[in-house]
Amino acid sequence: MATITLRNLVKAYGNVEVIHGIDLDIADGEFVVFVGPSGCGKSTTLRMIAGLEEVTGGEIRIGDRLVNDVDPKGRNIAMVFQNYAIYPHLTVRQNIAFGLYTSPLSRAEKDARVTDAAQMLGLTPLLDRRPSALSGGQRQRVAMGRAMVRDPAAFLFDEPLSNLDAQLRAQMRIEIKRLHSRLGTTIAYVTHDQVEAMTMADRIVVMKDGHILQAGAPMEIYENP
Ligand code: ADP
Ligand code: ADP
Repeated sequence: MATITLRNLVKAYGNVEVIHGIDLDIADGEFVVFVGPSGCGKSTTLRMIAGLEEVTGGEIRIGDRLVNDVDPKGRNIAMVFQNYAIYPHLTVRQNIAFGLYTSPLSRAEKDARVTDAAQMLGLTPLLDRRPSALSGGQRQRVAMGRAMVRDPAAFLFDEPLSNLDAQLRAQMRIEIKRLHSRLGTTIAYVTHDQVEAMTMADRIVVMKDGHILQAGAPMEIYENP
């Protein structure tokens, strides 16, 4: 688990600045949801935290550690994307275990982590299936399982539910919340879905044009839009 600290964070593509000096403190175990119009910089911010985009200016800290120059693997952070990126030729068990592919853990420890993750995500009866025999929500859970077994300091979710139908989205919202309360892992979550933000966030960060417009508990944001 870890805090995530952004200090005067800037991102430019070429000479076009798209993130204009963001300051934000995400507490250990906090569930922060980024919202705002398309193109406002939510995804770029998340990708910089993950180490998938270079930082143009400012600082990113995970815990006490300055990670500006640390590659994604060194950050101990897990990303979950909307197009779940699971492997069709592998079973659910193998897909989850893939998160530990290069890990130095013992075989027994890896197996135990896969078993625990599957249990927590309700995937135990499906461990020997291939993705083609799963629903969209189940596939999304496999992707989460693969991220979970790495025991990350934080999860970053970029519109993880936008490919799912309304009913599955509702179900997955509950499951992700439940997972958060069990694991207590810090979460930064990007969505354009109002309901997702309102129901899942400890704190909502509203972005606009590469700035943070407002940050507060869902009720504060709701009452002072
Ligand atoms: P959001 O996630 O809020 O929709 P993004 O973070 O994807 O917004 O984009 C923020 C801004 O950065 C947009 O103006 C977008 O066009 C621009 N942008 C994103 N990725 C790139 C890129 N690889 N090259 C140039 N501009 C980009
Ligand atoms: P390497 O990428 O060199 O194989 P890693 O230990 O960093 O070594 O990663 C093992 C594998 O787990 C990588 O291929 C990585 O892409 C994968 N992986 C699966 N799910 C995730 C996730 N949610 N976040 C980060 N890595 C993941």
